[in-house]
Amino acid sequence: MVEETKIEEMSWKSLEEALEDEIDTVIVMLGSFEQHGPHLPLDTDTCISNELGERIVKRLDYALMGPTIPFGVSEHHMDFPGTISLSNDVFMDLLKEHCRAYDTHGFDFIALVPFHGGNFAPTKVIAPEIAKAMENAYVLPVADLEKNTEIMLKSLKEAGIEYKEKLIHSGATETSVMLAIEEEAVDKERLEKGYEGEIPLTSLFTDGLKYFTDNGVLGDPRESSEKAGEMILKNLSEDLAERIDKKREEVLKRP
Ligand SMILES: [Zn+2]
Repeated sequence: MVEETKIEEMSWKSLEEALEDEIDTVIVMLGSFEQHGPHLPLDTDTCISNELGERIVKRLDYALMGPTIPFGVSEHHMDFPGTISLSNDVFMDLLKEHCRAYDTHGFDFIALVPFHGGNFAPTKVIAPEIAKAMENAYVLPVADLEKNTEIMLKSLKEAGIEYKEKLIHSGATETSVMLAIEEEAVDKERLEKGYEGEIPLTSLFTDGLKYFTDNGVLGDPRESSEKAGEMILKNLSEDLAERIDKKREEVLKRP
């Protein structure tokens, strides 16, 4: 029985043993380093990705979590200080190299799991190409942004928050999650409402956030709660784990 959940905390020897034992799957979480309004840290998406990844691997006894990729495609946030954005090409190359390593080391199944919005499209674009280049491993992009959004908004409601966020960025949803993970990381003196109108996704990525919101927030972080954050983490991690489990069973024919 392998007790570790994160590859970064293991030695190569214990990883080798884990792969000889019941481990065959690696979960790669894809974060970002970008502005999250005046009240949340720049590494918000990476913190959330880490937490989701840990919860996912705890549900799947055949999986370990690889190091979370802490940078993503965030061009639409570059008008705000601190944001570091990778080009689509660099981001996709990074995914390729991570997968190549896991494939070489003997994993049979690799799940690429974006949380940050800008990472979904490039992950879906490059996954088939990576899959073809693998010696052995199957590569699954767990990248359904609409489904993630639906789960998160449903969770807000379940936690008693009657606020409908149109697009998720630094508002009630992400602020709730950060309250649940690391309350001190949320600057409660700086909770301000952001832009609440409709935004077509294409316009968000081409015009950038600053075009719509001066403070970098979409929605209203004042509507957040720790309880809602816990609900979101629970529901989203369960659903992501289920999607991975279903596909792995189908592909590897292992229960
Ligand atoms: Zn975010």
